Amino acid sequence: MHCLRCNRELEAGHKSVALYMFAQTVGIKPRQKSTAHRISFCPQCSVSLAMGPPPEGALNLAAWDMIRDLVGSDPALNQAAWESLNGISGLLTATGTDGTHRPARAEGYFEF
Ligand SMILES: [Zn+2]
Repeated sequence: MHCLRCNRELEAGHKSVALYMFAQTVGIKPRQKSTAHRISFCPQCSVSLAMGPPPEGALNLAAWDMIRDLVGSDPALNQAAWESLNGISGLLTATGTDGTHRPARAEGYFEF
């Protein structure tokens, strides 16, 4: 599981925001349902996206609204972002020279 925006690995139990998405036919028989997809964002990206300008695209905007909802309703997610931000600076210095660190994607918007 990786953060969709920065591609950071999110291990099980790590703090993150998960968006679940599936598609389903309505009013058509037989009813069809796609597999469910799980999209994850690390706390920093969640807070950063929520604070940033609205993205383009109806789906992106819907996801952005939901993340803003979470970030705005309780400081716990901001706290998690702050905590991992402090841990990350040490992590980057430790792994930055071995060539395996994947650079963060530059764009600030969702990609579906
Ligand atoms: Zn991220």
